[in-house]
Amino acid sequence: MIAEKYHKIRARIDAACARAGRDPSEVTLISVSKTKPAEMVKEVYDAGGRDFGENKVQEIIAKSPQLPEDIRWHMIGHLQTNKVRQAVGKACLIHSVDSVKLAREIEKEAVRHGLIMPILLEVNVAGEESKFGFSCEEVEAAVRDISAFPHVGIQGLMTIAPFVTEAEENREIFRKLYQLFIDIKSKNIDNVTMNVLSMGMTGDFEVAVEEGATMVRVGTGIFGERQVREN
Ligand SMILES: *Cc1c(COP(=O)(O)O)cnc(C)c1O
Repeated sequence: MIAEKYHKIRARIDAACARAGRDPSEVTLISVSKTKPAEMVKEVYDAGGRDFGENKVQEIIAKSPQLPEDIRWHMIGHLQTNKVRQAVGKACLIHSVDSVKLAREIEKEAVRHGLIMPILLEVNVAGEESKFGFSCEEVEAAVRDISAFPHVGIQGLMTIAPFVTEAEENREIFRKLYQLFIDIKSKNIDNVTMNVLSMGMTGDFEVAVEEGATMVRVGTGIFGERQVREN
């Protein structure tokens, strides 16, 4: 059952927190519901889940009217500038900002909505060709550039670690992103908070929590395999 799987993943997060001497309330579990129907989302909601991740704005728009209003929708997939209009106001947090140009579009749309849009910058820590995101070397300059947009609120960093068979293989990646996160935080850049570190998926979320994740994004581990492979 989905509810049972959700509770098991949460228990594993809590156990990873205990091993790392962290408070479990520091780690938000985002249930990644992409390609899955609203009925399945509702099962997780009834089990206590309030944070859901989608990688297409269209899926948020399709599912959200069928579901309770207190759900927080996280935009975790690559966002094209022509989809920004729909994302701002629908998503509570955009995890996947990978260019200053995209942030500029978000700024324009946030002005129109009269809000400050919370975002994370996506970092391609391993430098994989197939992935979006800033390189580790580029991130600080990007944070400084984007911090000039008054309606965009940088809250932290996100990464999609490489697909590996052993979670331990990604420990270094998570450590590196945590270090970058701490370094940037210590610079106290105006208009930047650096309190959110989004890393870890079904295959490696426990290691990510041990290395400082404050949000993990788990899809398969809760909803089962997806028919269509995305990203
Ligand atoms: C699909 C997806 C996830 C969840 O992946 P699982 O391996 O199914 O847990 C997490 N983050 C992003 C950005 C995704 O696209």
